Amino acid sequence: MADILVYVPESGKHAAEVLTLARSLGDVTAIAFDDQSTALASEYGAAKVYRVTADGVDDYFVEPKATILTDLARQAGPDAFLLPSTDEGKALAARLAVALDNGLLTDVTGLDAEGARQDIFAGATVTASKITKGFTLATVKAGATAAEPAPGEPAVEAVEVRVADADKRVRIAERVDEPAGDRPGLSEADVVVSGGRGVGSAEDFALIERVADALGGAVGASRAATDAGYYPHKFQVGQTGTTVSPQLYVAAGISGAIQHRAGMQTSKVIVAVNKDADAPIFGMADFGVVGDLFEVLPQVLEEAEKRK
Ligand SMILES: Cc1cc2nc3c(=O)[nH]c(=O)nc-3n(C[C@H](O)[C@H](O)[C@H](O)COP(=O)(O)OP(=O)(O)OC[C@H]3O[C@@H](n4cnc5c(N)ncnc54)[C@H](O)[C@@H]3O)c2cc1C
Repeated sequence: MADILVYVPESGKHAAEVLTLARSLGDVTAIAFDDQSTALASEYGAAKVYRVTADGVDDYFVEPKATILTDLARQAGPDAFLLPSTDEGKALAARLAVALDNGLLTDVTGLDAEGARQDIFAGATVTASKITKGFTLATVKAGATAAEPAPGEPAVEAVEVRVADADKRVRIAERVDEPAGDRPGLSEADVVVSGGRGVGSAEDFALIERVADALGGAVGASRAATDAGYYPHKFQVGQTGTTVSPQLYVAAGISGAIQHRAGMQTSKVIVAVNKDADAPIFGMADFGVVGDLFEVLPQVLEEAEKRK
């Protein structure tokens, strides 16, 4: 059985997906820096957890964590080391690859004994790759696999580390917590309702919010909508925004450009509302409604109200 190391940052759907994928490859050893991550690793079938305590590790940019992960990788000698494809995951993986003189694959959307799959050019091309130097070191994209719990009682090994002065070059001066609000996070939500340029104004995005709230979902937006100032940039879905993989994705007034599709094409059920019957989004939608979103969405709201 292959030995798979997984870096588990806090809790969350993405980390749960990486643990699930890792389980399909072999015995999983998770690396956790807090109790939440340890609990997630237990819930998603890790056989072992390195529970790291390192005073001040979060006061600095990724350097201290990268050193700790490198040391653990040297010690464990894994067949594969997986991290979530987040900004932090990729910054860590790059440093691991350099420190270990190892190959690296980023934004992987599938992985098995044969190698890794990556969807490139906004999903227009699929590549199959295998690392030829060292072990399989990869960051895994959100939505690459569905998270499946497999609760267990992993052996927990406490690892105490002192942060080295050499890793204290970039100190984090301030952290600002964004107000969470009542809606689920975009990348975690089971339902995402997104609006595009077709929504037409910031004021009219209230309709998208109302539909999202009625379905218990998050709000997303196309880049055209965020660039036009209809909705904040942090809600952009797509190649240069957030990748989402909900059970239900509703695209209203979105044409379905390849860069948008790159961020939502793994959604389980896609519903498109567009007044142009030839809009490319209909080519990938499971259900399509040709119509004006200002006529269609109020009917969705009405129906959702009735079913409450
Ligand atoms: C490098 C690069 C990266 C990019 N990254 C992203 C990204 O991450 N995410 C992203 O979304 N885009 C991205 N884009 C932009 C992308 O190419 C498209 O321009 C963008 O997705 C279009 O957004 P849209 O579908 O909202 O607008 P449009 O393409 O203008 O489509 C609007 C749609 O609304 C419909 N419509 C209009 N009024 C109504 C109505 N009342 N009712 C129903 N339908 C209506 C129209 O028929 C049309 O289909 C990127 C582009 C580049 C070059």
